[in-house]
Amino acid sequence: MITATGTKQTIDVLVVGAGLAGLLAATKLQAAGRSILVVEKAHGVGGRLATWRLGPGRGDYGAQFFTVRQPQFQAIIDEWLELGLAFEWSRGWAAGSAVADGADDGFPRYAITRGMTAVAKHLAANLTIHNQTRLTHIREAGDGWEVAVEDGRTFGTRALLLTPPVPQSLALLDAGNVPLNAANRAALERIEYAPCLSGLFWVEGGVALPAPGAVQQPEQAINWLADNQQKGISPEAAIVTAHANPRQSKIWYEAPTGELVGLFMGGLRPYLHKTSVIKAQHIHRWRYALPLVTHPERTLLADGLPPLAFAGDAFNGPRVEGAALSGLAAATALLNSA
Ligand SMILES: Cc1cc2nc3c(=O)[nH]c(=O)nc-3n(C[C@H](O)[C@H](O)[C@H](O)COP(=O)(O)OP(=O)(O)OC[C@H]3O[C@@H](n4cnc5c(N)ncnc54)[C@H](O)[C@@H]3O)c2cc1C
Repeated sequence: MITATGTKQTIDVLVVGAGLAGLLAATKLQAAGRSILVVEKAHGVGGRLATWRLGPGRGDYGAQFFTVRQPQFQAIIDEWLELGLAFEWSRGWAAGSAVADGADDGFPRYAITRGMTAVAKHLAANLTIHNQTRLTHIREAGDGWEVAVEDGRTFGTRALLLTPPVPQSLALLDAGNVPLNAANRAALERIEYAPCLSGLFWVEGGVALPAPGAVQQPEQAINWLADNQQKGISPEAAIVTAHANPRQSKIWYEAPTGELVGLFMGGLRPYLHKTSVIKAQHIHRWRYALPLVTHPERTLLADGLPPLAFAGDAFNGPRVEGAALSGLAAATALLNSA
């Protein structure tokens, strides 16, 4: 039960982060009868499941599609397919892609109808979520935790689930002097991520990306280009997503937006008609985009502290599927620990 005392609340599990890991964990914990609160620093939900409205259209500027390897994730996708939330986008990429050049490799690539954020909104509908709530530090408090928000609010919780990229979670614990044991700290500090620079471009006058509307070319500076109109999530306008590869993203990370537009246009121009014009653009810098070094288990439950679990795509399997399975594993670990 949630009890409010001034600005403090005591809840069973406070989930930090409304990305896929946090949303699925919170759903499972709530279904098991726990009182939960999700806090999220951003205005909306989804984290790296991110969709932006640009002109009359929209484009995914974080995750582009997802694949399924495990039956547990397949069951979730089957439900999303049934609800019309997810659809199969393709089984391979276009001619011109360095990977599976023009081939159907038999593995479905799924996407979310109206953009990735839609599935996060669907999951969030039955949860208590405080948006625009950025934590600044976490402290041990008795047999639980106290978390502090930048606007001065604090929340009390018996258990804590941290799903931000791990360096950000560690910074929150360090700010409150939480004594993580040496083995846990070493395991968490091993995790590394690559950045990704992402651009969305509203193109009028035609985009010539081959069916199914995307090229994947790991060796190129711009390693991914996708037409969100051909993908089916932006019928109103051609919005093209462009990603810089990890190496270029690192080099150009701090460059001014104008220079990044130039970098993206180098990759995009070959797929535009001579008369095409860019009507608007949106550039986003993801500091922690894709894990390079992951933890070998789906979750980490801290030793010798009140219940504290870590989850996200850096735990045992990267990407959307890894985040989902990690969130579920962390929820199970917390249910078993109480
Ligand atoms: C550009 C890009 C392209 C990608 N492409 C693909 C792809 O095609 N296929 C695929 O499978 N995966 C892809 N991924 C990876 C995929 O998006 C992630 O693996 C997955 O979405 C991660 O989910 P998560 O819940 O672990 O983390 P996140 O989605 O990062 O969620 C963490 C949440 O914590 C919040 N948070 C952080 N700090 C605080 C704080 N102090 N207080 C409160 N809240 C906080 C964040 O705002 C965020 O919402 C891509 C990622 C990027 C960035």
